[in-house]
Amino acid sequence: MAKTFKNYIAGKWVAPTTGRYLENRNPADTTDLIGRFPLSGAADIDAAVRSAQDGFERWSRMPAPLRGDILRNVGDIMSARKDELSDAMTREMGKVLAETSGDVQEGIDTAYYAATEGRRLFGHTVPSELRQKWAMSVRRPIGVCGLITPFNFPMAIPTWKMFPALLCGNSVVLKPSEDVPHSSHLLVEILIEAGIPEGVLQLVHGGEEAGKRLVEHPGVPVISFTGSTDTGSKIGEVCGRMHKRLSLEMGGKNAQIVMDDADLDLALEGVLWGAFGTTGQRCTATSRLIVHRKVHDKLLARVEEAAAKLVLGDGRQTKTQVGPLIHEAAREKVERYVEIGAEQGAELVTGGARPRGSRTSDGYFYKPTIFAGVKPGSRLAVEEIFGPVLSVIKVGSYEQAVKVNNEVKYGLSSSIYTSNVNTAFSALEDLQNGITYVNAPTIGAEAHLPFGGVKQTGNGHREGGWEVFEFYSETKVCYVDFSGTLQRAQLDTYDV
Ligand code: NAD
Repeated sequence: MAKTFKNYIAGKWVAPTTGRYLENRNPADTTDLIGRFPLSGAADIDAAVRSAQDGFERWSRMPAPLRGDILRNVGDIMSARKDELSDAMTREMGKVLAETSGDVQEGIDTAYYAATEGRRLFGHTVPSELRQKWAMSVRRPIGVCGLITPFNFPMAIPTWKMFPALLCGNSVVLKPSEDVPHSSHLLVEILIEAGIPEGVLQLVHGGEEAGKRLVEHPGVPVISFTGSTDTGSKIGEVCGRMHKRLSLEMGGKNAQIVMDDADLDLALEGVLWGAFGTTGQRCTATSRLIVHRKVHDKLLARVEEAAAKLVLGDGRQTKTQVGPLIHEAAREKVERYVEIGAEQGAELVTGGARPRGSRTSDGYFYKPTIFAGVKPGSRLAVEEIFGPVLSVIKVGSYEQAVKVNNEVKYGLSSSIYTSNVNTAFSALEDLQNGITYVNAPTIGAEAHLPFGGVKQTGNGHREGGWEVFEFYSETKVCYVDFSGTLQRAQLDTYDV
């Protein structure tokens, strides 16, 4: 019989007050039941926030380097258990083992980066305009952080949020995606083993009901959300009204541009990895291939041939190159877009159907799909599909490629393949994205650099790197006047 999992609140594993549970099944084989996970409600979130408020009182006073030591332990334990964590993640999320092991590695990198940040957390010391007076800034913890995460990076994204939040001295309530609860369960077990004190970290499983309560809870001053733009917009409205600090990381419609002077072998490898890796379910997935007309037909033929050969199946089998979609609704969304593509006059080049065969019969599989002749501005060209569908758009110049890249509401990542250094550097300036790659696919972010997008992909904050520590801490400015007299800023002057 499948195991029934619990929430983690105030240092204890507890059943949800709702008494309701969700079944978590392997998307590559839906007969494989991983476990039953809480479908929590408002009362569970309220209990978690109360506990986090207590935890904050103690944790925020612990010196940051010691908080960092606990995160270093977390990195060590994750490293030792990397294979087991990757296997469990592939079982519940579907992407192939190489990718889930990258997902765990990103968590490990984030743990070690945060651990060392405990000995930095820089403020500034600047000259005062007055004599015998010091002027400085330091970074202070804020309070309880509500972290809401999506399904596609079951471990990396919770760590991107949780580790910097904790390092800065905040306490946390994590509400992971209801599609991948087991990965967060394992992650929280590791934090407990690493020595995270009671009350500092709570895990509440569930879906929209639990997420909504966390966002609306007056005791949670910080919300960090990664997920779809629709959900992010709803969260933004509530946080705006309640004056909460909010980080939003949302959808994307990322493009790989291939110029006529590009290395086509490299561009081919890049687009296959970018478009069909994680079955197209990455926020940075390549969903548009914008190709110069001089190399368009040649590249398209090669991408078509290679995509048709990709091996679908259970991501835990070594032969598999493309896993399933996360659930039936995601597969049906892909099917709707395949119909829309046909209606809007795009040419289906390969895929466009569910696969047949025993390797894929019990999962949410869909063939890698390519549409050519996609018109700029059409729905295939501008809407996020979040599946293995690549739209190919032919252009006649660099300027046109930039225009097509930029005319979407999203702005996460882009890439350009060219051998001309001037074109490459122009693209870094012209492409409206938070991340641009040159001669590399649209995916491949590293944990020590800021990550996020412009336009409706985000709201100006970044995950990762040095910037995220600013999001999770408050700047406090400190003046110390040791002159023994009243000195008045802007008013007093001195004889030289
Ligand atoms: P989703 O928006 O459906 O769900 C994300 C999370 O929000 C889940 O935990 C869900 O339970 C919760 N939620 C749902 N409704 C809520 C509400 N009203 N209030 C509070 N929480 C609520 O997204 P998903 O399907 O899990 O993930 C796919 C999306 O995430 C894609 O759009 C993708 O582009 C985006 N994404 C973005 C990034 C990025 O960094 N920009 C990274 C990964 C994924």
